[in-house]
Amino acid sequence: MLSYRHGFHAGNHADVLKHLVLIQLLKYLNQKDTPYMYIDTHSGAGVYALDSGYATKNAEFETGIARLWERKDLPPALADYVDVVKALNPSGKMRYYPGSPYCADAVMREQDRLRLFELHPSDVKLLADNFRKLEAHAAEQGKRPTVRGKRVMIEKSNGFVGMKALVPPPSRRALVLIDPPYEDKTDYRSTTTAVAEGLTRFATGTYAVWYPVLNRMESRQLPEKLKKIPSNGWLNVTLSVSSPSPDGFGLHSSGMFIHNPPWTLEATLRELMPYLVSTLGTDGGAGFTLESGQTAATARRKSSD
Ligand code: SAM
Repeated sequence: MLSYRHGFHAGNHADVLKHLVLIQLLKYLNQKDTPYMYIDTHSGAGVYALDSGYATKNAEFETGIARLWERKDLPPALADYVDVVKALNPSGKMRYYPGSPYCADAVMREQDRLRLFELHPSDVKLLADNFRKLEAHAAEQGKRPTVRGKRVMIEKSNGFVGMKALVPPPSRRALVLIDPPYEDKTDYRSTTTAVAEGLTRFATGTYAVWYPVLNRMESRQLPEKLKKIPSNGWLNVTLSVSSPSPDGFGLHSSGMFIHNPPWTLEATLRELMPYLVSTLGTDGGAGFTLESGQTAATARRKSSD
């Protein structure tokens, strides 16, 4: 089922959480010279226009990036994220929003590799076009030679399947982002299976899963199932921007679950989540949770705003 178009949701509160965590994960990997691979199983279109097309329909970015755009008091990790969005908007006007592939490309180095999967025929074409433009621009500015086909590979195929063949990468350093639409409930099971298979093949890789916090069984069970998969450790962060609506429509809360997170991430998030709640929150239902652990059976810490 390919009815989902991320353009409707670009830059909303859920994208803020996902992309700010993604950028921190990549910046941590950048601390060592050894190249790494970034695998995006569900890439979307890469870049979204905020002033035309789908994004204008519900203007969801107003619940997210728009609230951070003018702020001068951002905690450092949030500033890293907003800087990536601003780099895509050199005029200073917020016109474009970067999807996960662009956020990754902006942070990753020449020696690193991006492996991007997207199934939707229109979005995969937009993704390829967007990367062609980005690389032409980088080459013009003498920033990077055009290395398409080696540094960046885009595939129109099922990311759950494609990811398996790529781990472990030759450098044995990788970050996998799993960000399916979850409109089809099989995405929940495919996600846990992909993480379990990934960790079996490549136990030291980092696996980050974005998920919606919804009042449906599959959504509530997803983080619990992920916690049971053995790894060196996990971290789970959720952000709610409001109370659920009475009719149950709309997304008010989402989470990022990370297996094998950098040890620095929990403290970074503990510092910035209260800021994010106060900036994006719209009513008393706004809040965050942050928990981490080794496996489901071992000691776990949990705190709520
Ligand atoms: N990761 C993107 C970002 O943060 O900018 C957003 C991705 S969006 C939530 C999910 C995308 O997955 C959609 O563009 C959809 O077409 C695509 N998709 C759905 N099922 C897929 C699959 N099995 N493999 C690859 N892409 C898929």
